[in-house]
Formats: sequence, structure tokens, C-alpha cells
Amino acid sequence: MTHKPRVALAGLSCECCTFSPLRSGEDDFILVSGDDLEQEYPFLAQHPDLHFVPLTRARALPGGSIEPRFYQQFKARLLDELSEGGPWDGVFLHLHGAAHVYGGQDLEGDLLAAIRGTVGPRCLLSASYDLHGNVSTRVIDNLDILTAYRTAPHVDWMLTLERACALLARCLQENLKPVMSFIPVPILLPGEMTSTEFEPAAGLYGAIPELIASHDLLDASLLIGYVWADEPRSTGAVVTVGLNQASTQAAAVDLAENFWSLRHQFQFGVPTGSVDQIIAQARLMTESPVVISDSGDNPTAGGAGDTPFVLGRLIHHQVASTLVAGLADAPAVQQCQEAGVGAELNLSLGGKLDPVNAQPLDVCAKVLSLHTVPWSLTPSSKRMNDMAVVQIEGIQVILTQRRTPFHHLKDLCALGLNPKAFRIIVVKMGYLVPELEELASSALLALSPGAVNQDFAQMNFTHIQRPMFPLDAEMNWQPSQRCSP
Ligand SMILES: [Zn+2]
Repeated sequence: MTHKPRVALAGLSCECCTFSPLRSGEDDFILVSGDDLEQEYPFLAQHPDLHFVPLTRARALPGGSIEPRFYQQFKARLLDELSEGGPWDGVFLHLHGAAHVYGGQDLEGDLLAAIRGTVGPRCLLSASYDLHGNVSTRVIDNLDILTAYRTAPHVDWMLTLERACALLARCLQENLKPVMSFIPVPILLPGEMTSTEFEPAAGLYGAIPELIASHDLLDASLLIGYVWADEPRSTGAVVTVGLNQASTQAAAVDLAENFWSLRHQFQFGVPTGSVDQIIAQARLMTESPVVISDSGDNPTAGGAGDTPFVLGRLIHHQVASTLVAGLADAPAVQQCQEAGVGAELNLSLGGKLDPVNAQPLDVCAKVLSLHTVPWSLTPSSKRMNDMAVVQIEGIQVILTQRRTPFHHLKDLCALGLNPKAFRIIVVKMGYLVPELEELASSALLALSPGAVNQDFAQMNFTHIQRPMFPLDAEMNWQPSQRCSP
């Protein structure tokens, strides 16, 4: 090797729900660059033969479509950095795959085409994807390598980034030019029905390493896609990466056929029902804590996180010893701060971020405690998040200034809350993350209203390709029948 290959590090990550009235902009994204970005990828140290140059990565909590001005500014900045810092041998891209810019479509396709136009055809582009990302022909045409998570919950997120980097390193060092096969599979299901914690997704994903070995591939991915984006590219997909076009294509067909053959077996992995049914079921359970997913308003799927519907039903049913974690409402947090700990006050909760899917709820609350904690979307984030824990009848509610998922028990403990002390815990989440799964004596999923309503068949899709399973349940399909989103 005559010179150390130069690899740019960049990325954009935001799962965008097109059914949400929210817009994701400057206040939602955290831009990381330079040493801070490089430090987020410890596996880079495994490749001393490559010269990594950290550029810019923008990352936001899932939410609504991205504001066009923010996207155009980010894209221009990244293209400038690529153009000024080149020439490049490779670009490592940390993407999600379900970003959407308001008024546009196929954001990743647009961004990758622009990157390709800047770095030229010989540079290798390798992207790490979320398995809930949506792929398009334009995405594939402008990438050399795409690899996606193989677990949901995504416990392998770092491993996937590491794999995207290792594949790129190998191709650069051995001067390989990979080929990819892409088969969109017309299945569109929510993550809650396709978790790899249970069948059929567990077996389907578990067989990927064997598929790679048997077809002598570099990599293979199965993408469930993102159901709450009404775009032509929203669909399940298979992507294989190899050095031989015929075997790469044959493997993609195998995996696509396997996915399609199992379509009727996907179902929710935990007991599911209306909010009232799930509350009634939780109250009958003798062991605690029962963890209820308020799934329609899950901020980590793109929901606003400010729908008070479940809280309203808990109050209606006079449920006690319950924790609601949490509800995003910045004005209510401020009112609690002004009133102080111990004060009782009237609040109109929720429905401010997503008035389309939520009605405010009028309550009388007692302020139990006030907190200011780091809003830890990335380690280098310096933004803070004010919170108030309030008591509303028998229920404690965490009110948050920013949209906040509660995925870690330490985040509850930091507020002085002992999760084991409650009979019921309500979280704005779909399938439970590992720490909550372990905590829960039972997990129940409430089909609650919100922008990421699990009753997706009722949603007003106008742009996705049809027929699509399960919306058109009786449809037939063969992997050779290529649709090209
Ligand atoms: Zn995901």
C-alpha cells in the first residue's frame, strides 16, 4: 500500500414520522464533529492502517419530518467538508435510514447522491443502517456497502457500526469492489410485531450469519422498514453485499423468500389491547411492577411524547401506586418550578406538541420534586432537561421539558424514584428495552392513540406502494417481481 487510505466520518440520523405535526430542526439535532465524533467510535482503533478524518454527524431523537432549511444547511456543510478535505478513499456513514425532509422524499437517497457527486465514483461509501430504515434504489446505487442492525431492541447498534467500518477497511486494504443486491419486499409492519426477541424474526435474523457463509457474502441485511413514513420507499427490504453478482443476488432472493413466507406469523410479542383493557389486566396482576407500553405515543418511534390519554384513563379508573414515565410538557414543568416543591396547582397537561393526536388533560397536581438533568442524546451533548415529578391522585407523573424516553433505571433513580416500589409503570415505548424487560413482572402493550399508532391499517397512507402486506393481505408476490422505490 503506497499511502494510508483516507476515510471521512459523517452521518445523519433521525427516524421521521410523517404522521406527526412536529418538525425536527436545530433544537432537536445534536451536531458532533472532530475529536468528539471520533471518540464515539472506539472500533476505529482496530484499523491503524486507515487515516480517519471526522467531519460532521447530525443526530436527533425520532420525531417529525426535518425542517427543509436545517437539512439543506447540514447537507451543504457536509458537502463543503468533503470537497475541501478530499480526495477520499472511503466515507463511513452513520445513518438511520428513515429520515424525511418536509415536502421531500428519500432523504438518504438525496444525501448519498450528493455525497457520491462530491467524492467521485472510485471512493467507497459504507453505511450503517437501523433495520427500521427504508432503502431505495437511489440509496443502493450510491453506496458500496450497507449493513443494518440484526436485533430489535437494537443491542447490536455498536457492532453494526463496527461491521460497516470493518467491511470498508477490508475492501480498501484488499482493493475489493463490492456489489450489492437489493430486493424490496412488500411487507410493512411495526417494530413491535417484528422484534427479534421472539419468532419469527428471531429465527429469520438468526440465520443471517449462515446465509453469509453459505453464499460467500461480505454481508447481508434484512430491513423491516419504518411503517410511519408515508413514502414510496417505505417497505421491508433485503440487501446483500458480496464480490460475485450471481451469488449475492441468489442470497438476496433466498432471504427475501424466507421473509415473505413468514409474513403471516408476525404478531405482537406481549399481551395487547385497548388502553382500558390493558389497565384492567394490569390491575388483576398480583406481582409488580407491571410495565405498560403507551405505544402510540412512543418518542423513540417518532411520537410526540406528550399525549396524556393513558394518564387520563388511569385517573378515570382511580388506579393507585402507578408511575407514568413520562410526559413532555415544557410549560407545565415551568409552572411547577415557579410553584415550588410541595405546592398544589392546576395544570393543563400535554397536547401541545401534537395537538392533532392529543387533547390536553386538566389535572390538579402536587409538586413532589424538581430536577435538572443532562439531556443525554450523545455523550458530548451539553443540553439540559428540566423535570418535575408530580402526584395526581394515586399516580406519580414525570413531566419533562424535552421529549424524553426513559430507557434506563438510573434515569428514574436520578429523580429519587424507586421503580420497584410501584405496582404499575407506564412508559412511552413500544417493545421494552432490556432493562425494563428485566424489571417488569409482566409487560403489556396498550394500543394507545398517537402519531405512531400501532393500528397502522387505519392510517391515511397515500404514497406507499400497493399492494402491501398486511394492508392488502391476500396479495401474491415473488422476489423476481421487482418494485423499485
Ligand atoms: Zn430502529
